Amino acid sequence: MAGPLKTIALLGATGSIGGSTLDVVARHPDRFRVGALSANGRVDELLRLCARFRPDAAVVADESAWPALCDGLAALGLPTRALAGAAALDEVAADPANDTVVAAIVGAAGVASTLAAARAGKRLLLANKESVVLAGDLLLQAAREGGATILPVDSEHNAIYQCLPADGGRQGVRRLLLTASGGPFRGRRRAELEGVTPDQACAHPNWSMGRKISVDSATLMNKGLEVIEARHLFGLPASRIEVVVHPQSVIHSLVDYVDGSVLAQLGNPDMRTALAYGLAWPERIDSGVAPLDLAALARFDFEKPDLAAFPCLGLAYRALEAGGAAPAVLNAANEVAVSAFLQGKLGFLGIPDLIQACLDAHPGGPADSLEQLLETDAEARRLAGDLIARMRRP
Ligand code: NDP
Repeated sequence: MAGPLKTIALLGATGSIGGSTLDVVARHPDRFRVGALSANGRVDELLRLCARFRPDAAVVADESAWPALCDGLAALGLPTRALAGAAALDEVAADPANDTVVAAIVGAAGVASTLAAARAGKRLLLANKESVVLAGDLLLQAAREGGATILPVDSEHNAIYQCLPADGGRQGVRRLLLTASGGPFRGRRRAELEGVTPDQACAHPNWSMGRKISVDSATLMNKGLEVIEARHLFGLPASRIEVVVHPQSVIHSLVDYVDGSVLAQLGNPDMRTALAYGLAWPERIDSGVAPLDLAALARFDFEKPDLAAFPCLGLAYRALEAGGAAPAVLNAANEVAVSAFLQGKLGFLGIPDLIQACLDAHPGGPADSLEQLLETDAEARRLAGDLIARMRRP
């Protein structure tokens, strides 16, 4: 028996995580229905999803896309409400009609709706790691006060969540070990990274993901953001969160206990496992992911991350140690740098250079309110924009 239908608000429905979520949802019509879907501006893709999943509400964050959304829904003859703008994202995230919110918007653009879902006490499937990096303390506070259940669906954090003590405590935990694939440029020295292209950076060996997180994986900033995310979600200091490169991406992360036991979660590299876990928790449901074939895999490899070739991981630890709003500066500088790289305006090696220059120039400051953090985010973006003209070009 599946219990009462859960109504899902999927923010970032047109993205990679959005597609994986809907794949799992579609396998279980007895358990899930879609309450809301959102996109930024890709209306055609959003309409295609609306036709299939018939949500109560569809949201475009980019208000200029609203007329096309209204016309498209009318042409499909759907009763779906058409909403637009950032406030509409917050509205559907907090809507009492939706009990589960999947936070799958990319970047800091997802922070307000993620916080809104936490405040409203939702089951919150958290993919949008940038919102934790930017406003982790506020998010956890909002979840505590609102009675939300945060279920991490970033695969590493989902693995750790599954391997931590079932009572939610940290008794006996020595270290968290986050695994990293190493990305498409694993094994290259810094000099060999000069001139790599966006398409090369986005060609991840194991995972199929959106372009921003693919570049983050190639620079190892993705792992840096995940260290900060783990610090907030699991409450251990940075000194007890380590990264190990595991090129097969089958061990999704590990928890090391003081008695010498190391618990790991394994699975094929497919986000549907973590999403199915979050959607059905505490039950388990079919995700469509193939069973793991260990004999076919034959071996697991591990190595230390190369911080000289991939300085972004070290920069993330630096921002975490600095505390306050320093992670917000790191995140904003990274978003600007990755966007410039994808547009051919900044070389690959310019990404860490730009982030380091921003951390050197901006003190971060306090992180007591969302307004403060968004102000820091905006300042860091302006600073990064000013610096970028002087940085290494492709
Ligand atoms: P995609 O780029 O594939 O999708 C991003 C989604 O966010 C799209 O629906 C997009 O809409 C929407 N969006 C983009 N900009 C805005 C904005 N300004 N306001 C509102 N919505 C916006 O990203 P991914 O699915 O790869 O990643 C989503 C999040 O999940 C990221 O935080 C990422 O780090 C995290 N994550 C992703 C994993 C993966 O396997 N992909 C794994 C673990 C975490 P539109 O289509 O209209 O542009």
